[in-house]
Parts: sequence; C-alpha cells; structure tokens
Amino acid sequence: MKAEIVSTGTELLLGETLNTSAHFLTGKLSSLGIEVDYHTTVGDDPERLEQVLRQAIGRTDLLVTTGGLGPTADDLTKELVAKVLNIKMELDPYSLEQIKQFFGRRKAPMPLSNEKQAYFPRASKILPNPIGTAPGAIIEKNGKTVVILPGPPFEMTPMFDNYVWPALQQKIEPDTERMNERVLKVFGMGESAIEEVLGDLMSLPNLSMALLAKRAEMHIRLVARSSKMTFEKAEEVLNRAEEGIRQRLGNKVFGRDQETMIGIVGQLLKNKQLTIATAESCTGGLLGAALTQEPGSSGFYLGGVVSYSNSLKQGLLGVSEKNLMKYGAVSEEVAKEMAEGIRLKAGSDLAISTTGIAGPDGGSDQKPVGLVYVGLATPEGVQAEKIQLYGERESVRQLTVQAAMNKVRVHMLAYERRLQLGDG
Ligand code: ATP
Ligand code: MG
Repeated sequence: MKAEIVSTGTELLLGETLNTSAHFLTGKLSSLGIEVDYHTTVGDDPERLEQVLRQAIGRTDLLVTTGGLGPTADDLTKELVAKVLNIKMELDPYSLEQIKQFFGRRKAPMPLSNEKQAYFPRASKILPNPIGTAPGAIIEKNGKTVVILPGPPFEMTPMFDNYVWPALQQKIEPDTERMNERVLKVFGMGESAIEEVLGDLMSLPNLSMALLAKRAEMHIRLVARSSKMTFEKAEEVLNRAEEGIRQRLGNKVFGRDQETMIGIVGQLLKNKQLTIATAESCTGGLLGAALTQEPGSSGFYLGGVVSYSNSLKQGLLGVSEKNLMKYGAVSEEVAKEMAEGIRLKAGSDLAISTTGIAGPDGGSDQKPVGLVYVGLATPEGVQAEKIQLYGERESVRQLTVQAAMNKVRVHMLAYERRLQLGDG
C-alpha cells in the first residue's frame, strides 16, 4: 500500500509551525509497512488544496490529511475531498450532538458556524474527537482510502492511535513486511563507547541496530522485520537483543520506547513512597518543572527553591558564608549544603541540588563554563558530583537537569538493590 500525507495550514508554509504531524504519521505508517511516497504541504487556499487533493487521490492508495476541519470559511478539507471524490456532504446528527455537548460542558452556546463540523462526505466512517470539536473521517471509494484528521497534534495523534491504526492494520495483507521497532535509551555513554561495548551485537542476523545521539541521551534503535505471520519471531529477536544490550550496558540503559528519564525517576520514587525536594541555582527552576511535568508528581515531589543569589542560598537554605567565600557558589561544598538545606526545610526523604556555570560568561580557568555540581542528600548522607558539560547555555542547563535526574535514578536503583539484599 502506498500513501501520501497532505498537511494543510498556511502557518506551516510560513514556517510558524513545524509540521510535526507529517513526522508522526510517517513513522506510524512505515511501521505498518505502508510506504509513504509523498509529503505535501498546502496553505488554506481552496483552489490549491483542491488541486493537491486531486493529484494525491490520483496517485496513491491511502491519503491522510491533517488540518482544515475548523468551523471557519477557510477550513475546507472535508468539503474538497467530497468534491474530488464526487460524494455528497451529509449532516451526521450524532456528531452535531457531540459538538453541542462539547460547548455545553463549557457552559457556552454552540456558535452556528460549528454546525459545519458535523457534515461529512456520505458513508464516511466518522472518528470521534473527545478533545476538540472536529471529528475526523475515513472514506473509501474506488479502492482508495482517505483519512481526514484534525490539525492540532494533541487531537490528531490520539485519533490516529485509537481509530486509524486499527482500521489500517486490518487492511494490511498478512505477508506485508512490517518493522518491529524498539528503542533503548542510554544516559552517560557516548556513541563510540556504546559501539565499542556492543561490538558483535551490532551485527546480529535479522536485526538492524542504529545509534541516534539525542541532546542528553543516546538511543539504540532496534528493527526486526516481520509479516503478520512472523510477528512473534521478530519480537523474540528484539527481546534477545535487548537482553544482550542490557547485560553489557547495565544501568546505563534507563528506559525504552516511550519511557522518559523523568517518568522512570517518578515511578521509582512512587514505588518506594519516597519524596524529593530541589534546590536549584544554574537550572533556575527547570528541575522543578521537569519533576512536575507528568500528572501524579505530587505523589513524590514536595517542591523546591530557586536560590540563584548567594544571599538566598544562605538565607533560605542555610549555606554557610565560610564555604561560599572559600570555595565559591559553584563548588562541591555548596552543592552539598544546598541539598542538605532543602532536605531539612522540606522534610523530604531525598533532595537534589544544582549549581554551575551555564555560560556564556562567568567562566575561568579553574571553573570553566559548563562546570556543574549536582548534590544529592539522602537519609544516609550527602554527596555531590562534579560534571563538566559542553555546549551553549541552554544545553548546559538541560543536561544538568538530566544529570540530576539520572543521579536520583542511580541512587534509587542502588537503594532497591540494598532492600532486596536485606529482604533476602
Ligand atoms: P482542525 O482541523 O482541528 O480544525 P485547523 O486547521 O482548523 O484544525 P488550525 O487553527 O489551522 O486548525 O491549527 C490548529 C493548531 O494545530 C495550530 O496551532 C497549528 O499550528 C497546529 N497544527 C496544524 N497542523 C499541524 C501540523 N501538521 N503539525 C504541527 N502542528 C500543526
Ligand atoms: Mg488549519
């Protein structure tokens, strides 16, 4: 099956919005074994959109569109798909009711213009949109499939996963080759170091392995090809490869696929019912922001202090003037005092601190830009780690957050192991 993705929206052409939807959809279609031949982006212009749709329907089996389902006059995707396929538009009373209820929940009457969003090409399979007002649709005609999805990515992606993915999966021939993918995420090792350690694993039969450098982590992408019939076998190949990699890299592997560093850290803390607090200097609140990124973070994160100035480090966290004078704010001693200080103030089980030189100014020979100390206070004591980072200011700050999270993760893994040994 061959596919084309048509992204609509003038904002995409102006470069105001990055077309993340085409990226998302291409990944999903490829993993189903559907070949994406074209990405087309077109503005909210009826003539050009019609032309693009006509061309796409003419040359592809599966057309996926995003955007242009809004209530305004320039939102015309459904109407033009209907025109090109020569299908009449029809009101779907159920969708109209859903849209009315959407406004009802917000205690507002439905504007008349929104009625348009309940019209679809006749015989469409309508895809509900619990997050917004624009339902999507799947239309089949003359052996062609057109999938119409809303523009906002947070509405489009769940609609695709919940309704389009299962529908496409049914269409795929059993012997279509698909990619079974797995991503292992590594922190604290560079590309060449990983390559060296994995060595022979990198060239296993029936498996392709690629290393992708991300800002603060390395991803090992594993791909095994399978058809519907050989799906289980391909998963086995991936399982064996994952096991081998984890054996060699140990706890440098922090997660896989959708898992994130912060998600993993949160889970480890929640599992052991431990709380954490933060004292931040060079990260200026980014650590707190990361720890509150996911719902449920109140289960383990108590809060923190952004103590950028020395006076706040002293006043709020009890950092000693002596250490500030003797070692400076960016030092092991101050990182430790910050972590201990916030742990006492917050009454948390753990506390983490950051102090460093994010740059571009403020560096010296003894303390170059990118020098960071991450402190960790626990019931067993306090320690701080010296880290030398490279890159521009934002990188240094983001990497510091990741390094701090990783420090908590490694501590939690060791703590779990001690508990297990104690129990046994
Ligand atoms: P809908 O079809 O849901 O009514 P729309 O086209 O009417 O969408 P827009 O206002 O154009 O709505 O877009 C909604 C939001 O989604 C905007 O913030 C827009 O930048 C974003 N968006 C639209 N298409 C894409 C895309 N392909 N990739 C990333 N963001 C997108
Ligand atoms: Mg649009």
